[in-house]
Amino acid sequence: MTTMSSEPSKTKFDIPFLDLRRNITADRALIAKAFGRVLDRSQFILGPEVTKFEAAFAHYNTSQFCVGVASGLDALTLMLEATGVGDGDDVIVPANTHIATWLAVTACGARIVPVDPDPLTFNLAAALVARAITVRTKAILAVHLFGHGADMRGLSELAAARGIWLLSDAAQAAGAHLDGRPVGGWGHASAFSFYPTKNLGALGDGGAVVTNDVDVAARLRALRNYGAERRDEYIKKGRNSRLDELQAAVLHDRLAILPELQQRRSAIAALYSDALQGLKSVILPASAAGHIHGWHLYTLRIQNGRRDLLRKSLGSLGIGTGIYYPIPPFRQQAYAVEARAYSPLPISDALAGEILSLPLHPYLSMCEAEYIARSVRSVVEAWG
Ligand SMILES: *Cc1c(COP(=O)(O)O)cnc(C)c1O
Repeated sequence: MTTMSSEPSKTKFDIPFLDLRRNITADRALIAKAFGRVLDRSQFILGPEVTKFEAAFAHYNTSQFCVGVASGLDALTLMLEATGVGDGDDVIVPANTHIATWLAVTACGARIVPVDPDPLTFNLAAALVARAITVRTKAILAVHLFGHGADMRGLSELAAARGIWLLSDAAQAAGAHLDGRPVGGWGHASAFSFYPTKNLGALGDGGAVVTNDVDVAARLRALRNYGAERRDEYIKKGRNSRLDELQAAVLHDRLAILPELQQRRSAIAALYSDALQGLKSVILPASAAGHIHGWHLYTLRIQNGRRDLLRKSLGSLGIGTGIYYPIPPFRQQAYAVEARAYSPLPISDALAGEILSLPLHPYLSMCEAEYIARSVRSVVEAWG
C-alpha cells in the first residue's frame, strides 16, 4: 500500500539489458495474424511469405534482390561463396566484431586480414583499409557495428579503384542510413541477421542477403536450397539454409513498423547523449556526418580502467549492461593459430577493455532511460 508523501519516489528499478517479453507483448496481435496466414495455407518452406518479405526487404534497402536464409552467419557465408570468395583469397575484416563475421570468411576457405577500426565510430575507415590491400585481396567485409554505418563512401571508392568486392555485415544495421539510403543498399551485397534481439528480429533464427547483382542473387538462391537452380537440377553443392514461412511472415509485418521502432531507439539515444555530455572518462558514441545511426546498441567508452567498476555500480542500481565484445576474435582460442601471423591490433584491444552498452530497445520507457542516464552520471561524478 502506498501513501501520499513528500518523500522522493522509492521505486526500485530493475532494468535488464534486454527484455524481449515486452516486445512480444506489444506484437502479439501482429504475430498471431502473421502465423494465421501461414497456418491457413500450411505451406511452411519457400512459399509466398518468403517471396513477399524478400520483395519488401529488397525495396526497403533500395536493392533489387533479397534472398532469405537461415541465420546471419549463413547470410555472411553464402554471400562470400556467391561472390566467388574462397581458397587463396584474402578478405579484409574489422578486428573488433562478432565472431560470426570471421567464421564466415574462414568457412568459405579464405584468409582473414584483420584491420583496426576508427575508435570513434568503431568501424572500418577507408584510410586504414587501403594500407591492408594486396594482390590477394578479393573483398572487404565491412561491419556496421552497433548500427552505425561503416565508411561506405570511402570504401566504395577504394573497392572500385582496386576492382574488389565491397560486402557488408549489416546484422546490427537495420534502420541505419548513409546519405539518405539504408546502409544495406551500399556496396555489392549486404548480409543481415534476424536474430530475435536485432533491430528487425524474428522469433528464432533467420537472415538475408540483399544485392543488386543478378548473378550473386541467383547463386544465393541455389546455395540456400541444396544447390538447386530449379526442382531436381543442382548447379552447386549447396546446403539447406532457408528462411521459413513463419519467420518471413512475422518479419514482413514487423518491417512495416521498423521506422517507428527506430524513432524510439533514436529518442532514447538522444536522451542519453544529452544527459551524459561532459562526463570525465566517458566517451559518447558518435554519429559521423551523413549517417543516421541505427542504434542497435548505445555503446560508451569508459576510460582509465573504470569500465568494470561502472558496470558493477549500475548493476547494484538495478541496471543491466552489455559488453560487445569483451574478447575480440583474434584473441579467441578458435583463431589462436591464425593470430600468430597478425600485426598488433591496439585499438581493438583497447576498445575491448573500455566499451559498455546501456539498455536501448524500443520498449524501454523514457522514464527508465532517464533513470539510467541519471545513474551513470551520479556514479561517474562520484569518482571525482
Ligand atoms: C548477430 C550478428 C551476427 C550473427 O547473426 P546470427 O543470425 O546470430 O548468425 C553476425 N554479425 C554481427 C555483427 C552480428 O551482430
